[in-house]
Amino acid sequence: MRPEWLDVSPWLDLARRADRGMAMQAAVASDPGIREFAILLSPAAGAELETLAARAQALTRRHFGQTIGLYAPLYLSNYCPTQCAYCGFASGRRIQRHRLSAAELEAECAALKRLGLEEVLLLTGDRLATAGYEFVRDAVACAASRFHNVTAEVFAMTESEYAGLAAAGCTAVTLYQETYDPARYALLHESGPKADYGCRLDAPARALEGGMRSVGLGVLLGLSEPLEDVLRLFRHASRLRRRFWGGGVAISFPRIRPQSGDYAADFPLSQRQLAQIVFAFRIAMPDVPLVLSTRESPRFRDGIAGVGISKMSVASRTTVGGYAENTAPSSPQFEIDDHRGVEEFCATLRAKRLQPVFKNWDAVYRTPCLTSSAST
Ligand code: SF4
Repeated sequence: MRPEWLDVSPWLDLARRADRGMAMQAAVASDPGIREFAILLSPAAGAELETLAARAQALTRRHFGQTIGLYAPLYLSNYCPTQCAYCGFASGRRIQRHRLSAAELEAECAALKRLGLEEVLLLTGDRLATAGYEFVRDAVACAASRFHNVTAEVFAMTESEYAGLAAAGCTAVTLYQETYDPARYALLHESGPKADYGCRLDAPARALEGGMRSVGLGVLLGLSEPLEDVLRLFRHASRLRRRFWGGGVAISFPRIRPQSGDYAADFPLSQRQLAQIVFAFRIAMPDVPLVLSTRESPRFRDGIAGVGISKMSVASRTTVGGYAENTAPSSPQFEIDDHRGVEEFCATLRAKRLQPVFKNWDAVYRTPCLTSSAST
């Protein structure tokens, strides 16, 4: 059952029918909200993409300077009991599976450190007895002893489990809803723990309640009607920011990529549409970190870095193992499009007068997330 606050029908019409004048006003609104966000998604606003880009770039500079935060994903295991239609690790796939041993995890961390990385995103499949909460918590503790910032993109947990992860050194949890459309969600998640739409929807609030410093939200663009999904994503982010005013929310923009399941996007999205969505978020949520991964091409990433996007992954492997020489990589979760290494990508950023940032704060100084008494 979808909660009432995910009803975006009042804004969907605006997102489809706003005119150029409304779009120009929304781009410079002093206190933009969901109305302005919806207008910025409209075809009329899309026709003024260069204007939106200029505004997004100015706001990115104001709130993030010329910096681009860098991180790398580190897959812990690709065993998974869940059948997500779009994922190369889905339970039904005949792929090579692997779970990192403690020694392999240390080797992977050491290899990433040698690349100069100071932030790592730990990932795993859905909850299993052999790759469950303790496995993730121990991996967080291991990574936290080596990196300045450790975040996790793992299965939905309970509040007390999130508190345990935070105590082990995890500062943020990324948890995409994938799609906010309950019917599409049910269709795309046939079985497994992740099939519980409500449990996943509430997980970011549980993470912040449990003491995570911030949460990363997103939809997997291509799964559902994009306008509806990003409007609901905006509402979700807004509600969390209101309730957890001392915590942080970041937004990512993953698009479907080729994977072993051969799932192709039912609602394909062009680069231009993706750019418009990024600019709309930057203008309507100017201080929120916006994240883009190596799913996108070098050309697109280079163009949008600093023009809305403030954080990017680099040198990514979507296999379990693959950074260290002695950890043989397994099958990838999906294909990436930007294969550049750290040095090459940083050189490109610097040529654009952007500053790659490996460490911009120390997790040791973090304060627990502050909440308001308002309910969601
Ligand atoms: S998206 Fe996650 S839960 Fe779904 S099949 Fe892939 S690894 Fe498993």
